Amino acid sequence: MEIRTVLIANRGEIARRIIRTCKAKGIRTIAVYSEADATMPFVREADTAVLIGPPPVAQSYLNMETILQAAKEHGADAIHPGYGLLSENGRFARRCAEEGMIFIGPRPEVMEDMGAKIRARSKMIEAGVPVVPGYNGNILDAEEACRVAAEIGYPVMLKASAGGGGIGMQICRDDEEVRKAFQSAKGRAKAYFGNDDMFIEKYIDNPHHIEVQIAGDEHGRIVHLFERECSIQRRHQKVIEESPSPFLDETTRGLICDAAVRAAQAVEYTGVGTVEFIMDGNKEFFFLEMNTRLQVEHPVTEAVTGLDLVELQLTIAEGKALPFTQEDITQQGHAMELRIYAEDPVTFMPSPGTISRYEQPEGEGIRIDDAVESGSVITPFYDPMIGKLIVSGNTRAEVIARAEDALAQYAIEGIKTNISMLSEVLGDEEFAAGIYTTQFVQQMKRMTNK
Ligand code: ADP
Ligand code: ADP
Ligand code: MG
Repeated sequence: MEIRTVLIANRGEIARRIIRTCKAKGIRTIAVYSEADATMPFVREADTAVLIGPPPVAQSYLNMETILQAAKEHGADAIHPGYGLLSENGRFARRCAEEGMIFIGPRPEVMEDMGAKIRARSKMIEAGVPVVPGYNGNILDAEEACRVAAEIGYPVMLKASAGGGGIGMQICRDDEEVRKAFQSAKGRAKAYFGNDDMFIEKYIDNPHHIEVQIAGDEHGRIVHLFERECSIQRRHQKVIEESPSPFLDETTRGLICDAAVRAAQAVEYTGVGTVEFIMDGNKEFFFLEMNTRLQVEHPVTEAVTGLDLVELQLTIAEGKALPFTQEDITQQGHAMELRIYAEDPVTFMPSPGTISRYEQPEGEGIRIDDAVESGSVITPFYDPMIGKLIVSGNTRAEVIARAEDALAQYAIEGIKTNISMLSEVLGDEEFAAGIYTTQFVQQMKRMTNK
């Protein structure tokens, strides 16, 4: 079925990103927005914009029935959920189908299988994909957690099965830490995800987070679009991503990309998705989770493959075949994404407020996917991301030089941003040499605080 009108059930930079591809393809767009977002650029840029409620997400961007109502009233034939919010919600995907609308994403069963990390791990074990050693069941209380942790061997990672965005995760080094952390982690899982199933994994020391972009069509073809290195993180959440990963050799790259394709094949995946792995110092890798949606850092993959992933999503959602085979896809040059957040560069706490001045960089190899303009307000209701700076070039060194220059050009006033912290990472010798793990930001901070 041809898609003519897309409702975007999201906000900010990702709504603008989707609008851009729809415009290029002649597809009409409908934005939905909360009272807090009435003056945001994405609301103006859509062909139609519908107010769906007050600022809290439960009353606006997560309100399925209001969103579906807007879609029906304004003639949408497809709904793009973006990332976060309803993007991995199987119930919403089912409701779209019931209303005769295409949900741009995989089948709801697949989202549910992969959304529950405990279930996803079991599926991957069945498919022969290596998973992080751990316990694949819902752990009910701290005493059971201690027993399981002792079996796995400390240190361990306590995790929420429904978790995301680095929330509800806790490293524990002994029984005492498990007893202290268990109930609060469970409580946070309930509050954030409405589900408090907990499990435990072995904590992998000083690892790399490497993920593989995949795409599958409804005709059974599944391809990978190479990897992204996402080890520059704070609070277990990515801030800089790049492709290719400076840590991978050709052999390991081949192995991890194949494992990702096998993972996707195991669930007959349709749509674009990401298989996340954690890799230790010996280049041994383990499945972490699968994100059944477009990802924040997808522009990095677009930059090195030359593909438009939103366009690919629309093609797949229309039931068409992928317009290429695995052999056609190449990874060329180098690209890096830097997430610009309204946050304190030292404590990483959100810094909401009005952006009184906003000037963004320009130059060769620079792409900006952002949400705001001068006068925009970063509210405490949503993720405090201002936008993303995506830099590409022929070599990693060229990309770093361009990125440093671009960061220096930013002029953002009225709120705090993490730009100085990003510059510090780029200026680091070890980072320049491509030597870094998920512990990098923490270690860098310790050095600076001395
Ligand atoms: P990705 O895995 O795509 O790189 P993240 O792990 O950073 O993305 O976040 C996944 C999604 O969770 C994003 O859409 C992000 O907006 C959302 N998210 C991040 N932090 C929070 C939060 N504090 N509360 C709710 N959602 C969040
Ligand atoms: P989320 O759903 O919140 O994205 P993930 O399972 O993908 O959670 O993990 C997010 C990050 O937390 C990883 O990139 C990594 O830095 C850290 N992490 C998760 N699991 C482990 C583990 N078992 N050992 C070490 N670090 C981990
Ligand atoms: Mg993850």
